[in-house]
Amino acid sequence: MTHTLYIALGTNLGDRLYNLRAALDAFAPNVHVVTESHVYETDPWGFADQPAFLNMVVRAATRLSPARLLSFLKKLEADQGRTPTFRNGPRLIDLDILFYDNLQLDTPPLTLPHPRLHERAFVLVPLADLAPGLIHPRLGLSVASLLAGVDRSGIRKFSETLKISPHPVDSRC
Ligand code: ADP
Ligand code: MG
Repeated sequence: MTHTLYIALGTNLGDRLYNLRAALDAFAPNVHVVTESHVYETDPWGFADQPAFLNMVVRAATRLSPARLLSFLKKLEADQGRTPTFRNGPRLIDLDILFYDNLQLDTPPLTLPHPRLHERAFVLVPLADLAPGLIHPRLGLSVASLLAGVDRSGIRKFSETLKISPHPVDSRC
């Protein structure tokens, strides 16, 4: 069975556009990207003394279970050279699962929807590119209304699309 996902990507070290593209290229064949948001540049959040982030969100499809999906994304982060720092600290690539269908899950390794997405403008702005009407299953509010409740200053559009290398979009999954 195919599941619909929204994944947030963030990076603030090295060649940031390359890091985003490399992560998306490594998704296949486990995660198939359907649509990509614009790319945004975001002033650092939580811990201010670090480079600005690039953030984007993708809608994707997968057959992986939530637990396997989390392990897969954690492995991609490690493969791409992310070393553990601290929450909101600098990173080569951060891959967060925002939504997995309408699933609500509360386990130690994985919380769905992502427990902090509704307070993070750097997630809600790109998410609203793709799914402004999507209803947060726990909060019962749309992405657009969640976005209206956060401060989006400090978030700038960085590029319309992530055009680094040819990235054919097809309908397979
Ligand atoms: P953050 O993304 O908040 O800066 P990390 O990337 O270091 O923090 O993630 C910390 C842990 O959050 C991960 O190891 C993972 O087990 C847990 N986690 C809980 N829910 C999710 C989710 N929906 N998506 C990704 N990670 C999650
Ligand atoms: Mg994370």
